Amino acid sequence: MGNGSGLMSGRFRCWMLAVVWVWLSEAHLAAQVKEEPLRVSTRVVAPFVVQDGDRLSGFSIDLWAEIARGMGAEYALNKRDSVKDLLGAVGSGAADLAIAAISITSEREKLYDFSQPIYEGGLQVLTRVEGDSPSGVAAVLHDLFSPQFLQLLGVALLLILVATHIIWLAERRHPDGIVGGVGYFKGIWRAAWWAASCLATQAEEMPRSAVGRWIAIAWMFGSVVFVAYFTAAVTAQQTVQQLRSGIRGPEDLPGKRVCTVAGSTSETYLKGHRIKAAAFRSVEECFAALIDKRADAVVYDSPVLLYFASHEGRGQVVPAGQVFRHENYGILLSRGSPLRKPVNEALLKLRENGVYEEIHGKWFATN
Ligand code: GLU
Repeated sequence: MGNGSGLMSGRFRCWMLAVVWVWLSEAHLAAQVKEEPLRVSTRVVAPFVVQDGDRLSGFSIDLWAEIARGMGAEYALNKRDSVKDLLGAVGSGAADLAIAAISITSEREKLYDFSQPIYEGGLQVLTRVEGDSPSGVAAVLHDLFSPQFLQLLGVALLLILVATHIIWLAERRHPDGIVGGVGYFKGIWRAAWWAASCLATQAEEMPRSAVGRWIAIAWMFGSVVFVAYFTAAVTAQQTVQQLRSGIRGPEDLPGKRVCTVAGSTSETYLKGHRIKAAAFRSVEECFAALIDKRADAVVYDSPVLLYFASHEGRGQVVPAGQVFRHENYGILLSRGSPLRKPVNEALLKLRENGVYEEIHGKWFATN
């Protein structure tokens, strides 16, 4: 009896100790999560992270606020400049996690942990709207008044003026010549008419004097060269314009003026496909270059491009082709981070209870 009760009390003691140990460790973990605000790094990339004065908002910020609420965690947001900085902050332990529009890639997966996907995106091409470059009659008029065309016209007039005077000098004394027997102005006018007709290979009469004929041969030869040069210049200008506007997807990018964001998955893609591109610090700089015609296309995250195309860039830019590489965004965590499980649990709950859809609708509603 006594032995039995001793055994019982021994077992009971062990059981009690285990309960207390579990309770203490859970309380400690909870206290850790609750007491020390999580250091969350982010970067402005609309509509995932939007700078609103001093405040940050956006899909990722709203989603994170709900995840943190589900975890019962306090947090402090810390803004960084680039994806590289976000990776650096989490890698060095300066931040507990990072959330923005961070793509989950095999390279990053080697060094970091990611949460479950928070958004399904991908890469796309953005160009200026077609209406921006004139077509049909407008294109012809545009070409006719282009500086290059006016310059060529000036050269043609100068050449005509020179040829006019030379032929006038050579022909003025010949009674049957094209300018003979009339006064200076009438003679010059006829000579000019002849020189212009000859340039357009339409001259009806030819000089009579021997010198005049030699000059005519030289002038006709010069005219052929000039017309050939003129035709080549106009054709080249049109070809360049057509090449620049004809972008329908990444396959049309080689040879175009492409820009993207430094350190992004788009830059990696372009480098991997040997497509030359200017890499800017922010996508806003790319948008400005595209609108100012310093670039022909922007390659970047599709949701970011579409958001710009339907907001500030409305009517000026348009996506070219479909998403050509699918990517998921995730919350970036250090390797083996104890936060991964609670973050995932809270995120999946938001998917199940409809809050995720609500936040998604708020930032990505088609309007
Ligand atoms: N999603 C891209 C990446 O993770 C670009 C993100 C960004 O520029 O913020 O590389």
